[in-house]
Amino acid sequence: MESTNRFLDPNIPDEMAATIRPKTLSDFIGHDGLKQNLSVFISGARSRGEPMDHVLLYGPPGLGKTTLAHIIANELGANFRATSAPMLTKQGDLAAILTALEPMDVLFIDEIHRLPTAIEEVLYSAMEDFKLDIMLGEGPSAKSVRIDLPPFTLVGATTRTGLLSNPLRDRFGIDLRLSFYPPEDLAKIIRRSAGIIGTEIDAGGAVALAKSSRGTPRIANRLLKRARDFAAAMGTGIITPDVIKTTLAQLHIDECGLDQIDREYLNAIIMHYAGGPVGIDNLAAALSEPADTIEDVIEPYLMQLGLIQRTPRGRIVTDAGYRHVGLEK
Ligand code: ADP
Repeated sequence: MESTNRFLDPNIPDEMAATIRPKTLSDFIGHDGLKQNLSVFISGARSRGEPMDHVLLYGPPGLGKTTLAHIIANELGANFRATSAPMLTKQGDLAAILTALEPMDVLFIDEIHRLPTAIEEVLYSAMEDFKLDIMLGEGPSAKSVRIDLPPFTLVGATTRTGLLSNPLRDRFGIDLRLSFYPPEDLAKIIRRSAGIIGTEIDAGGAVALAKSSRGTPRIANRLLKRARDFAAAMGTGIITPDVIKTTLAQLHIDECGLDQIDREYLNAIIMHYAGGPVGIDNLAAALSEPADTIEDVIEPYLMQLGLIQRTPRGRIVTDAGYRHVGLEK
C-alpha cells in the first residue's frame, strides 16, 4: 500500500536537514533532563577512554533521534556510522558493517525494531562482548567462527519500544525517551532554524507556528520553510502571525496542527464505527494508509491531545475528539 504523501508526514526526508541539525548537546533544544544525563555518560566514557554504553533512543519520528545519535558521536569525538534495519537483510550485511568499525566508533541503527531475528542475534554477542559469532557455510559442513570486534557504541532508534525483543532491549545500558516538545521549546527551535536559513520571524509568528507543529521539530522546520515562501509572496518577507495563518490555511492544517488525514481518521472512526472501538487493520483499510504510518505518525499526537484513546478492544474517539471535528458524542 502506498504511504501517504501528506505534507506533515515526518517520514519524508528533509531538505536542508544537514544545515539545520544541531551538532552539539548545547545546540539541542529542550529535553533538559535527558541532555544532562547524556552529558554525564559522555564525559564518563571519555575520561575512562572507553566506549559509552549502548543507547536506545525511542519516540515518534522527527523528534531528534538521528540528531542525538550524531551529537553523541560528535561529543565523544568518535566516528559516526549509520545504517537502517530495513537495509540489513542477511547476517552478512551486519557482519560487514561491524567488522569495518574502528575502535570507539558510534554505530547508529535506525528503525532497529525492524531487524529480522536472525540478524538481531548477531548483535547480542557484538553488543555484550564485542565478538562476532557467525556461521560459515551451510548444512553439515557449516562451522561457527568467532571474530573480535573493536569496542564500539551502538545507538539504536525505534518509534516504539514495544516492538523490540526483550533480549535486544536488555543489552542497551542507556534508554532515552523523546516525547513531543512543548510549544515554548518548539518556538526556540523555530527561531534558531530561522536564523540559520536567514529568514526573519517575529515572536508572535514563532509562537503560532510552534503551536501548529504537532510537538515535532521536523514539522516545525518544514512549516517554517513554507511560511518563508508565503512571507515573501505576501510582501515584507517577515513571518508574522498573519503569514502563519495563511500558510496553515493553504496547507489545510488547523491551529492544533491537525491536517486532512487526521480529520479523516477521526471522521472514519466516528462515521463508520460509531466512535469506536475499532481495530487498526480495519482503520488502515478504511483510510488506505499502512497500519505502521497510522500507529507511528497519526495516532501518537492525537493521543497526546486527548482526541483518541487506544484500548485493548481498539481505538475510540473521545468527547474532545468529537468536538474537534464539530460533532457531539
Ligand atoms: P528522528 O531521527 O527522531 O526522526 P531527526 O533527528 O531527524 O528526528 O530530527 C528531525 C529534524 O528536527 C532535524 O533535522 C533537526 O534539525 C530538528 N531537531 C530535532 N530535535 C531538535 C532539537 N532538540 N533542537 C533543534 N532541532 C531539532
